[in-house]
Amino acid sequence: MSEQDTAPVDFLREIVQADVAAGKNDGKVVTRFPPEPNGYLHIGHAKAICIDFGIAAEFGGECHLRMDDTNPAKESMEYVESIKEDVRWLGFDWGDRFHYAADYFEKMYDCAVTLIKQGDAYVCELSQDEWKEFRGVPTRPGKESPSRNRSVEENLDLFTRMRNGEFEDGSHCLRAKIDMSSPNLHMRDPVIYRVMRAHHYRVEDMWCIYPTYDFAHPLEDSFEEITHSLCTLEFEVHRPLYDWILDKLGIFHSRQIEFSRLNLTYTVMSKRKLLQLVEENLVDGWDDPRMPTICGLRRRGYTPESIREFSKRVGVTKVKSVTDVAVLEHCIREELNKTAPRFMAVQNPIKLIVTNFPEDKEELMECINNPEDPDAGTRQVPFTRELYIERDDFMEEPVKKFFRLAPGREVRLRYAFIIECTDVIKDDAGNITEIHCTYDPESRSGGPNAKRKVKGTIHWVSATKCVRAEARLYDRLFTFERPEEVEEGKEFTDYLNHDSLTVNEVMLEPSLADAKPGSRVQFERRGYFFVDPISSEPDKLVFNRIVPLRDTWAKLNKK
Ligand code: ATP
Ligand code: MG
Repeated sequence: MSEQDTAPVDFLREIVQADVAAGKNDGKVVTRFPPEPNGYLHIGHAKAICIDFGIAAEFGGECHLRMDDTNPAKESMEYVESIKEDVRWLGFDWGDRFHYAADYFEKMYDCAVTLIKQGDAYVCELSQDEWKEFRGVPTRPGKESPSRNRSVEENLDLFTRMRNGEFEDGSHCLRAKIDMSSPNLHMRDPVIYRVMRAHHYRVEDMWCIYPTYDFAHPLEDSFEEITHSLCTLEFEVHRPLYDWILDKLGIFHSRQIEFSRLNLTYTVMSKRKLLQLVEENLVDGWDDPRMPTICGLRRRGYTPESIREFSKRVGVTKVKSVTDVAVLEHCIREELNKTAPRFMAVQNPIKLIVTNFPEDKEELMECINNPEDPDAGTRQVPFTRELYIERDDFMEEPVKKFFRLAPGREVRLRYAFIIECTDVIKDDAGNITEIHCTYDPESRSGGPNAKRKVKGTIHWVSATKCVRAEARLYDRLFTFERPEEVEEGKEFTDYLNHDSLTVNEVMLEPSLADAKPGSRVQFERRGYFFVDPISSEPDKLVFNRIVPLRDTWAKLNKK
C-alpha cells in the first residue's frame, strides 16, 4: 500500500497523508526512531517505535533506527545492542538503515563552521552561571554576551582552538546568534557546541567538543532526509530552533511534529529513575519482570503483539495523560485468553484424600485445552486417591456466598467427579493437614450423573503424579499510582511495593512437565504464566505470572 486508502486515525497520520497528497518530498515518507543509548527501552519507547515504524510502513516509506549518541556521558554498546534486540522483538525491521549520530560529528562540525562564516554563530566565554543570568526570563529580554559581535575570523580561530583542546571544559562554547529578546528562551542564542573532555563509547577521545542535542538533532534528521521527525511534546518549544538551524544552513528540511508521551500508572518511565532502580538493586536488573522496560515485559511474558495492540489503543494525541496500566494488562489477557492452553496448577496446596477411591488406581480425565480455541484439542489428566486442591477453596466454617468446599458440602473437581467433604484432619496445633471426601463415580463426564448440578467447581492435581515448579507472582512495582509525581520531601522509591514479588512452589498437572521455556499458559482460575526461559531448569521450571485472570487490584484499591 503506497498511501492510506482509509481515513487517517490520528493527527500525525492526517499530516503525513496531507503531505503525501501534496507531493511533498516526491510523496516519500521517511521517519526515524532516535533513542539515546543511555539505558534500556521502555514501554513509552515502544509507543514511539510503533508510531515511527508504523507510519512509515503504512505510507510505503522507511524508518531509520538511529542511535542519538552525541552526548558521551552514560552511553554504551550494551545499550545499543539492547535497543536493537528490543526493536526487532517488537516486530520492526530497519533494514540497512541503522545509524550512529556520532558518525556525523565531522559533518556537524562543518555545519557549525558554516554558521560562523555566515555570522550566525559565535564563540562565547561566559561561564555557565553568567550564561544563565544573561539569558534572562521569558518576560524580560536577556542581555547580550560581550563576545556576541566578534569578527568571523576571530570566531573561526576560537572554534578551531576549541576543537584542538586549547580550552578548559566549560570555559568556551559556540552559540547560535538568534535573538536575545525572544520570548522563547531556546531562541536566546542557544549553546550549540561545548568543550567537554569525555570519552565517547564509539569515537573514543577523538573529540573534546560536542554538539548539543538542539543542534545535533535537526542535522541528523536532515542528513538522513527524514521527512517527518516525530517526537514527544517536550520538544515543541525547541521546534523554532530546529527550523532556524535547517533554514540557516539551507539543507534538507525535515518536519518535526510532536505528540504526547505515554505515562503509565504504578510505574516510572524516566531512564534516570529506571537506572536508579537497577543500580540500587531495588529490582533484579533491567529485565526484572516488574520493570516497564521492553526486556522486562518480555521476561514477564508479554508478547510483541500485545504491546503493539496496546500502543494502538492508547492512540496518538497532543493531550498529556496517564494511561491506566490495566489497559496494558487487558491487552495481554485478551490475547492469551484465545491463545494460551489452560492447565490445572495448585499454588497453595492442601491435601485432599478421596477415601472411596482405590489406592492403586489411576483414572484418566479428559480436559479441554482451551474452550476459546476449538482447535486446541484435549489432554488426559490422571486422577488418583490423593489430590491437592487450593487451601483457599476450602473453609471449615464457610462464610455467606462461599460456594466451594466445606464440611458436608459438595463441589465438582474440574473435568472430573463431584466430591463431598466428609472429614477434616488437623495437627496438634489445630492446622488442617488433610481433607477427606468421597466421590460420586457416576458424576464424571459421560456418566449418568455427569449433569448433576453443584454450586462450585474447583481445580486439583494428583498428589502422586503432579510435578513441582516455582511460580513467581509479580505485582505492581509501586503502591502509588503516580510515583513520578510524589509530594515534596518524598522519593519515588518510598512508594515501592514490597510485596511486588512472591515466590511459591506450585503443584502442576503432569502434562506441564513438558512446557517449553518461553511458552505461555493459563493456570485455571489463577492467571496467565510464562515459562521463564532464563531461570527454568529441565527438572525445575519457573513460571512467571504475567497477569492474574482478573484485575483484582482495581477493586482492592477503590476507596
Ligand atoms: P532521556 O531524554 O531522559 O534520555 P527519553 O526517554 O526521552 O529519555 P530517548 O532515548 O531520547 O529517551 O527517546 C527516544 C525517543 O523515544 C524519543 O523520540 C522520545 O520522544 C521517545 N519517547 C521517550 N519516552 C517516551 C514516552 N514515554 N512515550 C512516547 N515516546 C517516548
Ligand atoms: Mg530524550
